Formats: sequence, C-alpha cells, structure tokens
Amino acid sequence: MFTIEYRIWGVVQGVGFRPFIARLAFENHLTGHVYNLGGGVCITVTGQADDLDSFGRGIIDGKPQPSEIVHLEKRILEEVRNYPDFTISESAEGENDIVFISPDLSICGNCEKELSNPSDPRYGHPFISCMECGPRYSIIDRIPYDRDNTSMVEFDMCEFCTHQYTSSEERRFHAQTISCHHCGPQLEYSGKEKEQCFGTAALRKAIEALNNGNIVAIKGIGGYHLACSALDEGAVRRLRLLKGREAKPFAVMFRDLDEIKRHCMVSEEESQLLQGKEKPIVLLEQKDSSILEEVSKGSRFTGCFLPYTPLQELILIETPPLVMTSANISDSPIIKDNYEMLAMLGGSLDGVLYNGRDIRTSIDDSVIKTVDSDVQFIRRARGYVPLPVYIKGTGKQYKGDILATGGQTKNTFCLSKQSDRMSGNLAYLSQHIGDLDNLRTYDSYLHNIEHMKTLMKVNPERICCDLHPGYASTSYAEGLGTELIKVQHHYAHVASVMAEKGIYDEVIGIAYDGTGYGTDGKIWGGEFLICSPSGFRRAAHLRYIPMPGGDSSVREAWKSAGAYLYSAGLEGYIRDERWGLLKKALDNGLNIVDSSSMGRLFDAVSSILDISHTANFEGESAILLENKAAEYMKLEDNKNISPYGFDIEDINGVYNINMNNCIRKIVEDKFSKVDITAIAFRFHRAVAELTAETCRMLRDKYGISKVAVSGGVFQNGVLFLMVLSELRRNGFEVFYNTVVPPNDGGISLGQTFAGIFKEGR
Ligand code: ZN
Ligand code: FE
Repeated sequence: MFTIEYRIWGVVQGVGFRPFIARLAFENHLTGHVYNLGGGVCITVTGQADDLDSFGRGIIDGKPQPSEIVHLEKRILEEVRNYPDFTISESAEGENDIVFISPDLSICGNCEKELSNPSDPRYGHPFISCMECGPRYSIIDRIPYDRDNTSMVEFDMCEFCTHQYTSSEERRFHAQTISCHHCGPQLEYSGKEKEQCFGTAALRKAIEALNNGNIVAIKGIGGYHLACSALDEGAVRRLRLLKGREAKPFAVMFRDLDEIKRHCMVSEEESQLLQGKEKPIVLLEQKDSSILEEVSKGSRFTGCFLPYTPLQELILIETPPLVMTSANISDSPIIKDNYEMLAMLGGSLDGVLYNGRDIRTSIDDSVIKTVDSDVQFIRRARGYVPLPVYIKGTGKQYKGDILATGGQTKNTFCLSKQSDRMSGNLAYLSQHIGDLDNLRTYDSYLHNIEHMKTLMKVNPERICCDLHPGYASTSYAEGLGTELIKVQHHYAHVASVMAEKGIYDEVIGIAYDGTGYGTDGKIWGGEFLICSPSGFRRAAHLRYIPMPGGDSSVREAWKSAGAYLYSAGLEGYIRDERWGLLKKALDNGLNIVDSSSMGRLFDAVSSILDISHTANFEGESAILLENKAAEYMKLEDNKNISPYGFDIEDINGVYNINMNNCIRKIVEDKFSKVDITAIAFRFHRAVAELTAETCRMLRDKYGISKVAVSGGVFQNGVLFLMVLSELRRNGFEVFYNTVVPPNDGGISLGQTFAGIFKEGR
C-alpha cells in the first residue's frame, strides 16, 4: 500500500472535477479525499501500486471536457495513510489570488444532439450551451465567473432555465451561460436595403444570402466573421476587395470532417485537432486543386476549421463551405461591436447577422499546423487564451508580478505572477493582438493589458520589453516608470522555448527570424546564442550584409537580392532596374543597416530565382521559395542531391557564416538552367547543413548538446524538418515551441522568462 498526494492547478473548479476524482478513486479501489485548495485541487489517495498507476493515468485521460490542467505535482508520502473511504471534503482556505479562467469552449456533443432534436426545448436554439461548452473568456467582465459578471447579465433566466440552473442533477446545474429560445439572445439580421428580421427568419435570410453568393457578417465568439461561399469565385474576390487583402490565403469553415477530407489531406493528429474543443484553424495540405485559387492564393495549405458555435452549425448544414475571415479592415482589430459592424453595411457587405450578447474581449480564431507529430502555433488565441504557462522557480526567481510588452508585429503581451504554493510562476499570454503600427490595434493592446491585469489580479512591478527603440511596445514600457528590463529579441525567442520546456541549464539557442534589434544596434536574425535563464552570449551568426532600407525592406525581396549579390561580388547579375539607386545608397552608406537576418537571406534567394521580387505580406517571398523546395521533394530520386557550400569564419571568437559561395552557386545553376525546384531544395539543404555544422562547432567549444530553435523562419516546414533531422542525426537534443508561436507572437513569453530570472537592480 502507498499513499500519493496530487496537487493540480488549472481550470479544475466549478467544472465537475472533484466528483470525477471521487468516481475515479472508487473505480480504482482507492481511499482518501479531494478538496479545493487555492486555485487548484488537492487529492490524497491510498491503495495498491497498480490501482494508483491507473488512477494517475485516468486523471489525464478522463478529466471532464471543460477542465484544463496547467500544472500537476505528485509525491509519494512517506507514511501510508488509512482512510475508511473516499470523500469530497470542504474547501481548505488558502492563497486565493491564483486565477484560472476557462478559454471559450466549442459546442459539446450533448448540446449538438439537443440542437438537432425537434422534440427538445432548445431545438434550433442558436445560443445553446451547458457546463461543458459555450463562451467563457470572451464574455467575462470580472471574476468570479458568475453570470452576473459576464455579458449574459443582460438576459434574465426564464423559469425553465432557472429550474435547470438550480437542480444539481441537471447537466446545466450552475451553467452560467444557460439560456433558451425564450430568455436567451435573439438573432437579428439587417440587410443592405435596411430590411430587418428576427429569430428564425433572420437565420433563413442569412443562409439565403450566403447561398446567393453574397457576403454576410456573422457574429461569433470573439468577434465578427465576414463569410461567403468558398465555391463562388466572384464572392471571394469581392470579399478580398472589402477586406483590403489581396494575397493572403483565406480560412474555410466546413460542415464536417468528411467534407474537409474531400479537399485536404488529414492525418490522425490533424483530425483530432480539428475536432478538439478548441476548434482552431488547422493548416492542411490540399489534395488537388478543388479549392479555388482565389481562396488559397497559391499556398500549399488551406486553413480549415469546423463550426464551433451552434449558430455556425445551423448555417453550415445549409450552405457550401464558407470562407470565414475575421471581420477587420486592413490590419485593424477584429470587429466585436454591433454598431460598428452595422455601420459597414452596404457596398459589398450584403447583410449582418447579429445578437445582443456583447463580446467583452475580442479574440481571433487560433491557427495551428502539425509538424514533427507535434503542433506548431501560428496564432494563439480563441480556445487557448487565457490559460497560463507554468514556469518553475529555481529559488532565485523574481518574486513580484511582471508585464512583458512583446514585440511590434504579431504582438502578444504576457502577465506573470509568482506563487509560493506552486513554487513557480504563472505566465498569462494574451491573445494575438496584431501589428502595433495600426493605431486601433495599439488601442486594443492598451485596453487588453488593463482588462487582463484586472482579471488575473496582476500588478506588475517589473516590466520587460524589446530592445528595439522603434517598437510601440518599447515606448509604452518606457513610459510606465517602473523597473524596466530590455530583452534582446532573439534571446526572447529562444527563452520562449526554455519557458515552455522547463530548460534551466545552458542551451545552444537558434533564432532564425525576419528582423530583430541586436545589442550592437544592427539587425539580427540568423543567430546562435548560448542561452541560460540569466542571459546569453552571441556565439555565431550569418555574416552581416549591408542592407538598404533596414527594416523597411521586409517586403522587398529584390532589395535583399541586390544586397546579397553585391556582397558576393556578383553585381553584374543584378537585373532589377531599381538597382542603380540602391547601389548609390550602398556606396555612400546612406540608410544602410548591417543585417544578419535569415529571413532576408530567404527573400534574396527567392528573388534571385525570379520566384518573388515583392511580397504582398511579410514572409510571402520565402513561402513561395519553400513551395518550390516542397515540389522538388515530391519527385523520386531527390535524396542524393548535395547542399550548396558555405564558409564559417571565426571573427574575434564569434563564428560568421558566409553565404557568398552558396549565392554564387545558385546564380551559376540558374544561369545554366538547372530546375528552379532543385535549386530551392539544395538551398534549404544548405541552411540545414550550416545549422548542424555550426552547432557541432559550438558543441566542441562550449560542451553543450541541447539545442532550442525558434523564430518566424521556422514556420517554413520544409526547413524545420530538415534542421530537426540534421541536428538529431548529429546527436543533439532538440527543443522547439509547441505552446506559443515560434514567430513574434511568442516573444512576450520569452521576455517574461528572462524577467523572472534576471537579478533586480
Ligand atoms: Zn454543451
Ligand atoms: Fe522575431
């Protein structure tokens, strides 16, 4: 007999967790007790080793659908405790400032059944929900999570709902979002001609409009979507004009999994992700060309997702697959308020389907893909936020609260709180905020910081921000007048992996990125940093290339190409007529910044190969280059092709990776009409090879064989997999992001990690 104590933190209160534990203990013949403790639960169980094992597995595998475990501690007690049976005890008092708020949950199986059952009182109710499903984070004003503290406060429960809400045997016992046809929010539809209808008529009208190739704004969980048939080329084109979005692929919502499988390849992992309670957008490789070019815009991947609200289910059973894109205009935040959406009616927007349940916090759909049998976040938002990341303390961690203000583009911020009881920190990462260049996005950034500080009871005394003097998040941080720690961008990328994976010893950190401000004032982005929780040293990087325009050349691959060719002594091969001006700037050193960016190297090669000279959005040129390499990989007999060469030079103790020979070979191959896909592939191989070679040299020098990789360039799946396999083949243990994005959306977690382990002034 043994006695084990579990302490579990996360969304475990008010979700049926304790009764579940009691049942599980009974099934496994265990005695003991369970009680709420602070923001978590404490369980003590006594029994046979086998039964205890099966109990432990059962907690993870069988936990109630709406619960979430953020951190679990297990210890075997020295003395066996004997209990007569298993009981649920009254809550013990304790530290109560640890907050876990549930993310928004997609409609559950039981509610789906009721929704489609004509004899159910909630048949066809577009806002059906229960203890296990419905909006949470997006409607909450303050804690505790009670109906009166959410935007459901506007809707008085009818007698029927009140009865279910107060009956402990009902599955809607204490379900704060409970409602029915009589007392819940009502659908409304406003058309372009000012026509208006309500309830079922509103739903019919919206479906009819969508089936007729019109664009309809549909209110969802975290904001409005702009929707139109994904099979109607004209409609999708008009949607692009309306959004001011010319070339980014659109996500498509499908009725069910089978429908997705008709268009895309779906692995077992992907199908689980698609159907999980978070219902993210999953990037899937297309099967054939059945998805309209106007939707996918040349991308190999289509963002696919399933309906996650009852309303979306009601619509999708009667329409073709729908393009469902966040309702925003040119990079502004997603629209959440009715008045604002209705003001846009007219022109290409044919109708608005809305309701009176307010959205308190706007939150976009999450976007993920699978790679290396794991998940990679592109955008972390609905379904995941505001679950915190647990960061274990070392005894030397900072004890106060921290705000990390994030980067500039794809911004998120992060609030962190230290807990003695948990001997560590909880880092609450915000939802994807967006690009802070946009004034309205910046406003929503400020609003969200305040909202989340209140919700999570965090009062930051230490602020972390990027080194870049031009970032809005940096100026904001500087203006707060509190202790400020500036964290180098690429160290923050690597630290985000360390935070996720609990790495406290030294690692070789690799950050391949677009741009980030270096400690020497130059633009970094092809970096090898020796990192520990307390700091980093730069050990290797791509050799600096004088880059015209600095940060502003992110969409202009032709400039990167010119700069790289010029540096490699291949000026004669520059075809671009704008080169003359650039050369003048380079010769005179005007508006030139040295750059070691990996993103710019990919841009340069894309342009040299005439694949893309100007990107419509950040990263596009590199994505198109990746597509070529992927095309080549589909061919037989590609295994023996060798990577292009490169040189690594030791300059004052820092390895500089010189790509001149690689660039020269690329130009030669292109000149002698070697297939572009083969060149693109060999280039990718070269980058994977230089990564492994540099790591081998650093292992010899520093004796470190753990590697953490991050940075936006690793969204390139072809490169990412090549790098992983090269590193593993060379005996390295490799870590990468699976909880936050490797792009700048993960920066704030890394800043937080650095802030926690930085000694104070
Ligand atoms: Zn439900
Ligand atoms: Fe970055």
